[in-house]
Amino acid sequence: AAKREMKEALRRVRAEFGRHWPLYIGGEWVDTKERLASLNPSAPREVVGTVAKAGKAEAEAALEAAWRAFATWKDWPQEDRSRLLLKAAALMKRRRRELEATLVYEIGKNWVEASAEVAEAIDFLEYYARQALKYKYPSVEVVPYPGEDNESFYIPLGAGVVIAPWNFPIAIFTGMIAGPVVVGNTVVAKPAEDTVVIAAKVFEIFHEAGFPPGVVNLLPGEGKVVGAYLVEHPRTRFINFTGSLEVGLYIQEAAAKLAPGQRWLKRVFLELGGKDAILVDETADLDAATEGILVSAYGFQGQKCSAASRLIVTEKAFEPLMERVLEGARRLSVGPAEENPDLGPVASKAQEEKILSYIELGKGEGQLVLGGKRLEGEGYFIAPTVFTEVPPKARIAQEEIFGPVLSVIRVKDFAEALEVANDTLYGLTGGVYSRKREHLERARREFHVGNLYLNRKITGALVGVQPFGGFNLSGTDTKAGGPDYLLHFLQMKTVAERF
Ligand code: NAD
Repeated sequence: AAKREMKEALRRVRAEFGRHWPLYIGGEWVDTKERLASLNPSAPREVVGTVAKAGKAEAEAALEAAWRAFATWKDWPQEDRSRLLLKAAALMKRRRRELEATLVYEIGKNWVEASAEVAEAIDFLEYYARQALKYKYPSVEVVPYPGEDNESFYIPLGAGVVIAPWNFPIAIFTGMIAGPVVVGNTVVAKPAEDTVVIAAKVFEIFHEAGFPPGVVNLLPGEGKVVGAYLVEHPRTRFINFTGSLEVGLYIQEAAAKLAPGQRWLKRVFLELGGKDAILVDETADLDAATEGILVSAYGFQGQKCSAASRLIVTEKAFEPLMERVLEGARRLSVGPAEENPDLGPVASKAQEEKILSYIELGKGEGQLVLGGKRLEGEGYFIAPTVFTEVPPKARIAQEEIFGPVLSVIRVKDFAEALEVANDTLYGLTGGVYSRKREHLERARREFHVGNLYLNRKITGALVGVQPFGGFNLSGTDTKAGGPDYLLHFLQMKTVAERF
């Protein structure tokens, strides 16, 4: 039945190809002259849809609308704000298959990946709606003190900016908006240029759920233009960003500068890249490890911050493991995402070029044993690729490639495996396959990543179960979907009153 529903949804979304969406500012759909086109990476001649492109004037209008809305939204009862998120979640459930089909066409996810992502977006809305009740205003801590009443309570920050990546264009986009908004902030959201159609659909849902005008605003546009303008703007109170290390570093620096008229320190949250490793030793269940490696390395073509891009294997496990991994990788199908292959296309021309240039580089750094090329067809198809004998310091073992490319590093023993695993600037996810308790315990203590997975795949954090966020250059460890996430968007006020 699910299969039939999906086919029908794909047909319906395809029938709407080329549709146009305006911006959403202050509760109104506002069109502009310039447009952004969203292409189908499986067949880039096809325009999935267009969305109005925002410039500086629209950014001004959106910030103005967000601050105006903040004046009343901040005082809404928490139950009512939470209820709006639950309403949005219910609407998302109703349009679930359509949203999945949109991801298939707009960004090249296969059905399984698309379905998991829409489920995650719904989970974020429902989880933050519940979590927010913990900080219900007046959420008061009263500290008895002789002669005085002492009370502390949380209040929201104000109007902030959300800047999102294309790789989880509904889950991360929705989660980064829902978190600050549910506790009383307002938001101007800039989706990634390649995923504006799904962003517009999220805003149709917010509109229908009945968010008051200005609480959520949609501002598609170029990162360097409208994104940077919002980051540097004196009226931006906080920036919730997920994306690359490079842009994250720019945001951190730009946000630290005091703009003329700015009256606060901007709070900055950064969820950045990874160079995630799976470690396998000779005691591991090699079939289970193979399955986990293939899903983690090639799921959504390796374009996840949590993707396994390094495989670190002890000497004794190397031959039997690689035999299985290569056999499995050879069997993976690659093709147009609507046909539900194991791997769809990579997201864009720019992605394709970047991945292919890393593959060229890899040929000089390691041994290419599988794939390593673009496949025939109109779309951006790249074969699952494996390099072995990769030195730990090689660029393909250190830099985020963000594609279906696995770098295999052979090590002497588990101690060396851990050392190599930690020798990266990132620290997002990591995995270990072993049956040796001592190794698992040691990894628990010493493998320096925000999300460590033992004897299972290393992607797919469950909202509310596995708070997600990394160490080192992987980000500010904001832990999306975790119990403390909403606190980032609140400030505590303390009042002492003499009796
Ligand atoms: P990106 O940094 O290129 O773009 C992210 C967003 O920033 C886009 O909306 C873009 O338009 C905007 N942007 C670009 N330049 C800007 C500027 N100068 N000022 C303001 N905004 C600007 O990243 P991407 O290619 O969209 O996403 C992939 C990256 O995201 C990978 O590095 C991946 O690891 C990372 N990521 C991290 C997590 C996590 O939770 N840690 C999750 C998903 C993706």
